[in-house]
Amino acid sequence: MARYTGPVCRLCRREGEKLFLKGERCYSDKCSFSHRSYAPGQHGQGRKKNSEYATQFRMKQKAKRYYGVLENQFHKYFVEAERRQGITGENLLQILETRLDNIVYRLGFASSRKEARQLVLHNHFTVNGKKVNIPSYLVKAGDVIAIKSGSLDSEKIKAVLETNGSRPVPAWLERDANAKSGKVVNLPNREDIDTPVEESLIVELYSK
Ligand code: SF4
Repeated sequence: MARYTGPVCRLCRREGEKLFLKGERCYSDKCSFSHRSYAPGQHGQGRKKNSEYATQFRMKQKAKRYYGVLENQFHKYFVEAERRQGITGENLLQILETRLDNIVYRLGFASSRKEARQLVLHNHFTVNGKKVNIPSYLVKAGDVIAIKSGSLDSEKIKAVLETNGSRPVPAWLERDANAKSGKVVNLPNREDIDTPVEESLIVELYSK
């Protein structure tokens, strides 16, 4: 599976916003964006006026980086979002939100989407009782996502739950009292999604 392997904090600086890609570090004073909030590179601190295309392009890059999705997959999601009924931009965000790695992160079973992806790949989760190790798996309303019983003894899972198990979850998800499983109560509407992107700019970019 292809993935971005370069310096992660650089992505936040490029997008001019904290994207919370590194878990706990993002909430501490070690966050590099807090110290250097300008774009990386030789001309990063220069004044820049973005063209319409550049603004739309940057918005797409931000959304991809936020969810950890590469170009091909992101474009496939856009095609699917266009095919579905409703507003394309909102459909796109809904699809991204329902990826299994995002759900694992949102439920507090991982400290970042990147960590969630690794934990899913390492077979730590089930969906409706069946083992699923595909981070891009799209969940549906009513699905139950659980930590595999054999994984509850894992030091890694214990540490993750200790740190994130009490983090608030969005209203469209429900976590059980023991923080071992969660349910997709309903698919999220736009107002349920706090992702800092203007999805209409992405739609405009792909519609050119
Ligand atoms: Fe972004 Fe987190 Fe790095 Fe801060 S620590 S720059 S929020 S990835």
